[in-house]
Amino acid sequence: MESIDNLGIKDKRHVLRIFVRTIIFLITLLVVFLIVYMSNQRHGEFFLRDSSGALDISAYNFEKNGRIYMQNGWDFYPNEILRPIDFISGINENQPIYTNFSISPAGWASSTFQQSDGHAGSLQMDQTGVGTYRLKMKVPENSNLLAMDFPEINCAAEIYVNNNLVKKIGKISDNTENYQNQESYSQIILQPDDEGYLDIVICCANFTTPIGGLTIAPALGTPYQIEWISTVSKIWISVVITLSLLIIVAGFLVASTFRSKHKYYYFMLIIICSLSYELSNKFIIALPGDWNKLLQVTFYFLLMFIAALYFASIYPKEFDFFGRIRNWDIIVILLAMMSFLIAYWIAPHLLYRTSSLIANSVFAAIINFYNFFRVLHKTPRHPNEGTFHLISSVLASVIFSTLLIRSPQIYFISLHSVGIVVLVIGTAMYFTIRYVRNFEKISMFSQELEVAVQEKTGSIAKVNAELVNANQMLIKNEDARKKMMSNVSHDLRTPITAIRGYIELIMNSKNKISQENLETYLRSMHTRSVQMEQLIDDLVQLTRLESDNAKLDKQPISLKDMIESLYELYVMETEGSGKQIILDLPDNDSLTIMGDPNRMLRVVENIIVNALRYTEDDGVIEVSAYRESALLGGESIHFSVRDNGIGIPAAEQPYIFDRFYRAANAAVNKSGSGLGLSIVKSIVEKHNGQIWVESVEKKGTRFHVVIPAANRNYNGNKSSAKTSDPSAGQDA
Ligand code: ADP
Repeated sequence: MESIDNLGIKDKRHVLRIFVRTIIFLITLLVVFLIVYMSNQRHGEFFLRDSSGALDISAYNFEKNGRIYMQNGWDFYPNEILRPIDFISGINENQPIYTNFSISPAGWASSTFQQSDGHAGSLQMDQTGVGTYRLKMKVPENSNLLAMDFPEINCAAEIYVNNNLVKKIGKISDNTENYQNQESYSQIILQPDDEGYLDIVICCANFTTPIGGLTIAPALGTPYQIEWISTVSKIWISVVITLSLLIIVAGFLVASTFRSKHKYYYFMLIIICSLSYELSNKFIIALPGDWNKLLQVTFYFLLMFIAALYFASIYPKEFDFFGRIRNWDIIVILLAMMSFLIAYWIAPHLLYRTSSLIANSVFAAIINFYNFFRVLHKTPRHPNEGTFHLISSVLASVIFSTLLIRSPQIYFISLHSVGIVVLVIGTAMYFTIRYVRNFEKISMFSQELEVAVQEKTGSIAKVNAELVNANQMLIKNEDARKKMMSNVSHDLRTPITAIRGYIELIMNSKNKISQENLETYLRSMHTRSVQMEQLIDDLVQLTRLESDNAKLDKQPISLKDMIESLYELYVMETEGSGKQIILDLPDNDSLTIMGDPNRMLRVVENIIVNALRYTEDDGVIEVSAYRESALLGGESIHFSVRDNGIGIPAAEQPYIFDRFYRAANAAVNKSGSGLGLSIVKSIVEKHNGQIWVESVEKKGTRFHVVIPAANRNYNGNKSSAKTSDPSAGQDA
């Protein structure tokens, strides 16, 4: 068998917590019980006897102090049914009289009584089980109307007050055959005689249990008080029943959501059955003969059986000592109960015999203890549910035990009903706390889920947007590809057609062509083929640049040197035309960038050439470059070329960096492929730079290129930047 020592320290602490919680719970239960008990049980007071031998309660103010229990002062005549007349005519001299009885819920206590001759004696009851109680008292003068209630008189009784029969309970018979059982409480109006005396004689018969006759001390009070107590008791019982029904319905609803439902169903069944048992006494009392007793016994055993089932259902399934006997214990318990029940139903006269009561008690005690220990055994292994099981098993045990000593009187808010209320509230609290915790967990989880869903939705939307973009790009690329194909074929066909034209001209001339013309044709053919070559070169370069693996041969370049050498070259070229090139460069800065020299040369040259190309003869081209900061988040070199040429129409400016795009005003007179700026733009972007244009049609254009400056080290080392710049040498 697994021992508690095998559990981890954490589990041990948990188990300890469970026991502490259970103890606290039981103490709370006890306190509740005590409060209820103290506020309901009015204890008897000791009264002095006056000269006539009556209890003197004349000083007692009922209006102020409430009703009192007449615990003491009774005389008891065993084995004798005596009417008031017998006391007047004189009673049997040998008849023992017991005085100073005190009445407890367990019946007449017999420890302190004495016989009339003054000797202490023991109460001897014969088989007939009859006896008479007598009480004489003097009551307050102003209370000419009093009420007395007898919470419980077992069997049959006749109650006389001042010689008048005021209540008859059941039918008194002299033998145990044919007896009638009556458990009753009655409001009996008491009318004192002129001197304020009450002489109460109660003769009881047919004791069939050791607690026959008066089992609870009668109470005395004003009719109003007794009525009020009755109302409070009824309210209490209604509350208990309503709460219980509520918890049963709610419990079943809640239990239906559990994974292992059985234990909760059994638990609810215990409450139902326990209520039925309690109520059967009230409602089924009308049944003739022994039926109500038999039903009660049946309920009682049913309750025991469900309890056993309940404990079995919470018991762990592990294969150990309890596990092994578990398969059989329910059957054994069921068989034992069945045999008890059969015995009761076949021989009802066994009911309420001393032997059967003890048998019932022992049986219930054994089952309770057995079940209780099983739960104790289980708890350390299943600490999560430990508290609930411990508390419920304790409460179930309390209920079963109190069933045995239960008072059927609603006047007494018994431990039983307190137990049910606490059980009901405890269970409700347990379920509530459990549900609140689960709810918290679920709502936390759903919040997390919501966030996760939002994140996922966000990323899906992002991916979607990317896909849409990619799709648009693809469509654009496809359009561009088509356009490019048609442009390329057009741009290639034009020179080819021209070349073919010249060739045909030469062929058709049949050697009659002049040397001069031939030279012109050949020069034109040469120009056209150079054009074609240029176009093909540009296409190849653009394709390479646009493919991701275009490798840049990056090294420090002095942009200043590069611009200066290009300047020298183009100043020479423009000689003779009216065009001017103005240079504006810093003196003490080599304007170093990290870049691919050939590609950067292409950028600078292309922009300068465009400026020259798209200006008239009076063109002024200003080429400038300088260092600036912050534009690209660090130092950068700003290169710009300004001209006063034809300009670019505003509507066309966004497209001039597209492949093959040529502005309408440029395309008219000037030749060109429209590839230059798109090559320039991709080179600039590959250098993490920016390029843009400012232009006003017919006024002029200014191109800007900004490239991140190289590390200051290169800057400081002007000579190295210069010598390592191959472009400078190349172009010079
Ligand atoms: P192209 O071979 O036509 O010069 P580019 O790509 O270099 O091709 O230029 C694209 C177009 O941008 C030109 O056709 C022209 O319309 C316009 N453009 C470029 N530079 C200038 C400039 N400096 N002044 C006016 N228009 C210009």
